[in-house]
Parts: sequence; structure tokens; C-alpha cells
Amino acid sequence: MRTQFTEAMAEMGVGPGDDRPQRSGAAGLRPRPARPDAERLRALLERLDGRGYKAYQSLSGSWSLGGFTLHVDHVQGDPFAEPSRLRVEMEAKVHGLPLEPLQSPEGRVATADFLLRQVVRVLQARGSRRRGTGRSGEIRVAEPGQSFLPRSAMEIDAAGRLTWRFQAGLPADGRTILGRQAAILLLEEIPALVREALLYRSLNARQLRTWQETAADQAAARRLMEARGLVAFVAEGSILPRRSGVSDLPLERGRAVPFAVPAEMAQSFLLPHAGEVRGLAVPEGVTLITGGGFHGKSTLERALELGVYDHIPGDGRELCLTRRDAVKIRAEDGRAVTAVDISPFIGRLPGGVETEEFTTELASGSTSQAANIAEALEAGSRLLLMDEDTCATNFMVRDRRMQRLIPREQEPIVPFVDRVRQLRDELGVSTILVVGGVGDYLDVADHVIAMREFRPAVITEEARRLTEELPSQREPEAPGPVRFRIRRHPRLAVLEAEERRPARIRSQEVDELRFGRWEIDLGAVEQVVEVTQSRAIGHILRLLARMEREGAGGATPAMPELLEAAEEALRSGGWRSLVERPEEVRGDWALPRRYEIAAAINRFRGLHVDVERLRETF
Ligand code: ADP
Ligand code: MG
Repeated sequence: MRTQFTEAMAEMGVGPGDDRPQRSGAAGLRPRPARPDAERLRALLERLDGRGYKAYQSLSGSWSLGGFTLHVDHVQGDPFAEPSRLRVEMEAKVHGLPLEPLQSPEGRVATADFLLRQVVRVLQARGSRRRGTGRSGEIRVAEPGQSFLPRSAMEIDAAGRLTWRFQAGLPADGRTILGRQAAILLLEEIPALVREALLYRSLNARQLRTWQETAADQAAARRLMEARGLVAFVAEGSILPRRSGVSDLPLERGRAVPFAVPAEMAQSFLLPHAGEVRGLAVPEGVTLITGGGFHGKSTLERALELGVYDHIPGDGRELCLTRRDAVKIRAEDGRAVTAVDISPFIGRLPGGVETEEFTTELASGSTSQAANIAEALEAGSRLLLMDEDTCATNFMVRDRRMQRLIPREQEPIVPFVDRVRQLRDELGVSTILVVGGVGDYLDVADHVIAMREFRPAVITEEARRLTEELPSQREPEAPGPVRFRIRRHPRLAVLEAEERRPARIRSQEVDELRFGRWEIDLGAVEQVVEVTQSRAIGHILRLLARMEREGAGGATPAMPELLEAAEEALRSGGWRSLVERPEEVRGDWALPRRYEIAAAINRFRGLHVDVERLRETF
């Protein structure tokens, strides 16, 4: 490795990069003179020293710095503004990472994740190094959470070409450029970071391998789940509880009861690296998680919600996996709903309001939950996850007494208990549901798991006997099969319609997305796990709005096709597809799922949809 690296260093100028048009100040760099870029950059910074901050604009462009290219993508306006956006690109022969693990998408994601964490580690060890006023000298990366996610902060392709995006505060004293400090930042500190965090020879190779192998095992386990028709798999020994309500880190070993696997629902997976792994295997169908209060029901459910993502080594949930299309469903009163067909769950409302195109600025608990289900199915989900804790009771069930007291004609709600099996049988949609209080669900469950002192037990047989011994005596209330009668074609161009320039997209917190003057509340969208995803969702909405404008008022795609278009753009063009120029890709994005993109669209209060009526096919 060392020789390879030294060779690459010797080839300096041959490095990657200058493939995009040079911008303003850097234009004078072409044709490439004999003097290495590093020297010219140093000379430029010396000239800039003492000048006004705006003169930093002349750094824009690409600099080949011995082994890697430093792209200055955006120069901040002043030392207090958001720091400048920089990007390092490096070829495989320079960093020397083995290429074999990069041949799968999960291998690339895990490797990039590992490298990003090395940057974070080195930066933390380095401490804050202010080099002047405001953010001068600061180096910032978007820190990853507990999941493996494709992130714009660090990317590596199958050929090993690596891209690291970050921000740095260009040093100044007041608004006066500190050229020498800038030279230290750009020509010493950043290269040192690259050397310490991104070169194979500086990395803990074993730990890197663990990252890659964990990802490979997760991918293999997901393939096995699919082949065996499982919706979830929780490996023996998994650590599901988290440190606190505000921390996604595992509860300390010793305090956490490791996940135990009941024999009745156990299956084994043979994984390429971990070998044979036993786990709780949840098949398609209706599965209840029950048990006494505080016995770990919600913790298991939450782990399943997040099992749509792969988790990093040491997280405890590495092999707690849920179908990628699982969607958490909850009541969300107060949300807006735009022309959603909730009629399978809620019939005609008081005042004769039809519910096949239900629209409201202020949904109730039950109508919001119905809309959440209809929208999840529209987006393609085939696994619903619910926790009684966050469900609307009247949406879930009407017991025998209420059925007597309030006649069916006066109750618009068809309770979910009467729909959940139809969803399974007619639409192939599974449900995993936490219930502690509503025994009527025992009638409709394929599997019943009881949590006792944080340990799952399978009590399906017991529950079945009980339903015979103690019938619920409810009248089933479903009027017929589950049918959705409309297709929605969302219109998003309005997002930017009143903006003179491209609207600013901002997310400070994971549950918040601001798009120009609009605010989209993601507070109840619990499967967005990082603020980086919220930001990316904002930019995806902009892409979709742009696509709509370019379609010039013609027919817009229906929701599923719209989501597909977003995914396809990202699949084929990567982050680059979200912006007009490559240097606009920011380093603080992570890939959201289509369900969360849909959730944001559905919560956008300016949304209009063209409604297409479906022919009734019965
Ligand atoms: P429930 O939903 O059944 O009321 P929770 O899932 O909310 O229970 O769990 C109750 C408490 O127990 C939480 O503080 C949670 O972190 C903790 N807990 C859950 N699972 C475990 C476990 N396996 N080991 C240790 N503590 C756990
Ligand atoms: Mg609970």
C-alpha cells in the first residue's frame, strides 16, 4: 500500500478532477501551468491576505493538491455566514482501499459510512481550531447517526473514486482575509485530515472489514427474508432498547436484556460472515405484540420501525430487520389531508361529507390515521406497523357495547379490526400491531407475541383457545372488500411558485422542513431518522416541482409514478440529479425512503392533487 501511495503522490498532477468548468476566479488557472496547484494556491492566498472577504471568491474551482483534488464549491459571503462548501475527490490508487467490497451497493454505503466516521473521529480529536472571526477555521461535516445511509458527505464508487463533502470557514479578522491562516487550513489541515481519515494505511483495517461484513450480512439476511416471506427478523441477542428518549445509542450492555428468541417462531439464517444466526421470524400476516405495560412492547415495535434501515456495528440492531417498505402508522390529529380516499375506513361524515376524496386542514385522530394508511398503501407499502400507544382508539375498534349503543348508521368508522385481515387477504398487506388493552384483536391475529420482562413468548395457541372460550361477540362491520377509488396526481410546482429565486430549503431538526415560505411538519413521520434525510426530502420535492414545471402544465404523474421518478433520478444520477450544477450538491444530505418523500408531499399544506376516478371493477 505504501509504495502504491507514494507512487500516486509522485504522480500528483495526474490526479482526478478538473472535469467541470472552472468558475470565475479560477479561470486563470487554465491552461495548467507547470507550477503545482498547491504552490499557486499558496501564492493566491498570500495575495488575498489583508483584502476584503469577497476576494475569497477567487478560490472557487478545483485545486489538485498532491493525491487529491480540492473543489471549492461555494464560497461564503462573510465569516459569520454558513461556512464555505468544499469537496475532496480522490482516486482508488491514492487511498488504497481494497476494491472488492465496493462491488455491491451495500459495500459502498458501509465503506463510505466508515470513512465519514473516521473524519468525525479525527475532527473531534483535533478539537476546535478557530483561526479568526466567526466561523474562521471551522471544519464541519454532517455527522452520521446509527444507520447506514447513502450520504452526500461521503461517497465511494465501484472503482474506488471517493468524494468527501464538507464545510469550512475561510479565516478572516473581521471582514479582512487572513491569507496565511487560510493557507494553513487548506494546505495543511485538510490534507492532514485526508491522510489521517481517508487513506487505507491510516485506517483500522479490521474495523473497516467489520463494517463491510456487517453490511454484507444484512443484505444477505434481507434476501433470505424475502425468499421466506418474512416481514421481520430479530436476531437473538439483539439490543433493542435505546439509552434514552432522545438518544439512538444502545442502552448499556448489562442494563439491557438481550433479545431472546422463542422456539415457536425461530428461524435460522446462514449468513456469509456471521454464520448461522437464529432469530424471531415474523411471517406475512397479522401479528400482535402484547404484554403488560412497561414490558418492552413499544421498544420492539420501534426497533421494527427502524429495521427498514441497516444499523452500524455495535448498535445492537444490526440484525433487527424489517421489510424495507414498512410504514409506521399512527394517529396524527391536526395534520392536513388533501384528497385522500379514506372511504375503506371512514364512510360518509356528518354533514354528508364524502370520504373518497377527503380533504381537511385539520384532521381528527381517526381521519388522520385512516389517511396515513391510505397514503402508505398508495406509496406501495405492504407492511403497516402500529402501536396502540399512538393510535386513535375509535379507529382501532368498536366493542360490543358501543356497537349496541351507537348504531352502525351513525358511525362512519369501520374499525381497523374489521379491515386488517382484508388488507392481508385482498391486498397482501401485513400488519404488526402492539396491543395491550384491546382483546378484540385476538380474533384477527395470525401470530401473537407476548413480551414478558423484555422477553418475547409466542402465545398464539393460548390466544386462539381464549377467543373460543370467551368470544368477543362483536358484529363484524366491514361493508365489503377494501377498495380505493381514486388515483392522485400531486401538483408540487406551487412550492416555488411565488418565489423569485429558488426557495431556501432548511431543516435544523429531523422533524422540520422549511421550503421557502412553506413549513412541512414531519414531527409524526417517525421513520425519518436524520435531519440529513429531511433536507434531502426538501431537495427531492424541488426536483419533482421542477419536473412538473418542465412538463409544462400537462398531465402530472400519479403518486406512485412520481415517487418512482424521484427514486429513478437518484438511482441513475445520484445526488447530482437534485441540483442544476454539480457544485450545488451539499454535504448534508442522506437518502430518504419513498415513504418519507410521500409523507412530506402529503403534509404539504399547499398541495393540490388532480384526482382520477378509478372505474369500479366489480
Ligand atoms: P411497553 O410498551 O410494553 O409499555 P416499553 O417498550 O416502553 O414498554 O419499555 C419500557 C421501558 O423498558 C423503557 O424504558 C425501555 O427502554 C425499557 N426496555 C425495553 N426493552 C428493554 C430491554 N430489552 N432491556 C432493558 N430495558 C428495556
Ligand atoms: Mg408502549
